[in-house]
Amino acid sequence: MTKTSKAQDAVGAATTPPRTSKSTRNRRPAEEKFAELKRRLHDIDDLTAAGAALGWDQATYMPIGGAGARGRQRAALSRLAHEKSVDSTLGKLLDELEPYAATLPHDSNEASLIRVARRDFERAIKVPSDHVARASVFGAESYEAWKQARPANDFATMLPFLQRGIDLGREYADFFAPYHHIADPLIEDADEGMTAASVRRLFAALRTELVPIVHALTEQSNADDRCLRSSFGETAQLAFGLSVIRRIGYDFERGRLDKTVHPFCTRLSAGDVRITTRVFENDLTQALFSSLHEAGHALYEQSVDPVLEGTPLGRGASVGVHESQSRLWENVVGRSREFWEYFYPLLQRTFPGQFDRVRLETFYRAINKVERSLIRTEADEVTYNLHIMLRFELELKMLEDALRAKDLPEAWRAGMDSYVRVVPPDDRDGCLQDVHWFSGIMGGSAQFYAAAMKAHPNIPKEIAAGEFEPLHSWLRENLYRHGRKFKPSELVRRVTGEQMNTGPYLSYLRAKYADRIRA
Ligand code: ZN
Repeated sequence: MTKTSKAQDAVGAATTPPRTSKSTRNRRPAEEKFAELKRRLHDIDDLTAAGAALGWDQATYMPIGGAGARGRQRAALSRLAHEKSVDSTLGKLLDELEPYAATLPHDSNEASLIRVARRDFERAIKVPSDHVARASVFGAESYEAWKQARPANDFATMLPFLQRGIDLGREYADFFAPYHHIADPLIEDADEGMTAASVRRLFAALRTELVPIVHALTEQSNADDRCLRSSFGETAQLAFGLSVIRRIGYDFERGRLDKTVHPFCTRLSAGDVRITTRVFENDLTQALFSSLHEAGHALYEQSVDPVLEGTPLGRGASVGVHESQSRLWENVVGRSREFWEYFYPLLQRTFPGQFDRVRLETFYRAINKVERSLIRTEADEVTYNLHIMLRFELELKMLEDALRAKDLPEAWRAGMDSYVRVVPPDDRDGCLQDVHWFSGIMGGSAQFYAAAMKAHPNIPKEIAAGEFEPLHSWLRENLYRHGRKFKPSELVRRVTGEQMNTGPYLSYLRAKYADRIRA
């Protein structure tokens, strides 16, 4: 690391613009330094985006034989990006730009960039390049192993990967010691300002309110969802999903949709935000709602102010804020009655004969069926939260060393029984179901839900008429365009006028399911 950093220092010094004349010294140098800061940050962003392109390829079209080399390639790019992120010249530049930042408004692009770049720099210098490269290799290898092991219900193969993931998570946390909880540094990375304790408090409060709602909704005779489970051709499913996400505002000039194992959204640049989906011919909901979910992430990324492109500000604010948006489009919008008032006729035309005798109301109830189920990504919007809480609790326990990796399958079964009240028959549909567990993102799921709580239910009436622009532009204007300028808590306050809390989310559920929740 040190050797390369020195070499870069030399290059950086050689390319620093010459000092300007005396008359402009007071202003010009700061602007030049700011331009140099942006150049350096662009380089880091370009390397990161190149790594993301390799990751997208690995998860979509790469032949299996490419796995080994791909791991090394991604690690090499991560290491290069990290080395540039910890370059001492960058730190010096940030120091020198402090007085300049102090003269600018807090929410200006320039002051925000200096502030966020400094925060990133100070965190990055705590982490050795060697750790970054090992974590990257691990992520790629583990993903490949998981792709084989999950369908084979093979926990034994994944056990060493799980152990290694925990070890890497613990090693990473220790770079930030002292901390209050070992998960705090990981949570801070995903959602600045959150801690294990604050997420625990939020989840505990939510669980208390949610359990009676889930109980009320699952006690009564459940919705008939047979209309979603016959046979739906892949081509038609993909075509329908495409029409839906195009209509809500996903820009195909700046993105594309492909198939994968575990759907995701990836940003290669402002002009290239890609999403993926998976199709099950016997289940209409998989491709449709995973496309909507990922399109929600993509709408956010495609709407970040283009002037922030190539800098650390040019992407979504945090994991939690991102998840609040994907779930807003997937559930609050995509599972609303108004949404289907508009799209149901198109669905009926896409699958001739299959929905002729299914009333809109039956379909609406089917896609909103609340049940105690095994798979997080297939869970309804109400029980979904319980799946997240279980993962969070188990992750904390493993990081604390209070739960051994080999005991995870049993802890998973016990946890599912306690949280969701169903027990998986095997590990395939138990602890092996989530790729996140095996790609080094320990602590990430802690935030998956936290920020979604602020997603308010005021969906404009326009949705029933297929008009999504009013909602989209409100979100773009108030939230998306800011990129990563503000901390999640600051952003929530700016956008909603209140602190992050579970109130709006619970009111939304109570209103939506009012006819099915007994008082
Ligand atoms: Zn998501």
